[in-house]
Amino acid sequence: MTRLRVHPESHLVSRIGWLRAAVLGANDGIVSTASLIVGVAAAAAPPNDVLIAGIAGLVAGAMSMAAGEYVSVSSQSDTEQADLARERKELGDNPEFELDELAAIYVRRGLDQTLARKVAEQLMKNDALAAHARDELGISEITTARPVQAALTSAAAFAVGAAMPLLMVVMSPSNMLVLIVSAASLGFLALLGALGARAGGANVPRATARVTFWGALAMALTAGIGALFGTVV
Ligand SMILES: [Zn+2]
Repeated sequence: MTRLRVHPESHLVSRIGWLRAAVLGANDGIVSTASLIVGVAAAAAPPNDVLIAGIAGLVAGAMSMAAGEYVSVSSQSDTEQADLARERKELGDNPEFELDELAAIYVRRGLDQTLARKVAEQLMKNDALAAHARDELGISEITTARPVQAALTSAAAFAVGAAMPLLMVVMSPSNMLVLIVSAASLGFLALLGALGARAGGANVPRATARVTFWGALAMALTAGIGALFGTVV
């Protein structure tokens, strides 16, 4: 508990991976589903059709988020694995060179020659690959890419985000639908921005303003398109 208070920042960075995926997923779910609903409703579609469009948007969006995250995080993971494999081979082929290389890294970070060499020797004796992965390649437990975790997190977050405007469709009278869904969705976005910023230790008002602005823009655009095509068709 005391340690937590002395170094709060050391615990926040470990959340970055899933926090980023969760906030992005929920944000996407709210913005795209609310925009879809507002667009379809603005075209004067009956509420039942609006609801079906929204549900289809939820399913499609969650699947697409999962696939997108999986592919992008997998390629990051492949790169890391390839780097580690190369490093493992170099450590086997040329351990002396690798020791010099690691010691040189510590010298650049401010240790003197003798100490740097000693640190490099001891770390390599303990786990040579881990030492090189962390200090030469910048790969650690915290930063390691996890494709399945990222895919599931963003799909679930998207579904939760998308469920919010859908719930509003069920609860609003049809003549107020566009207004209630847009206003409530902007409220959800602001809340999400604030929660995400708090959890990540970032600036709360700035993060809130950022997500709300993009959400409002997306809904205004689709509402405009819906109204345009609704009257034309
Ligand atoms: Zn190396």
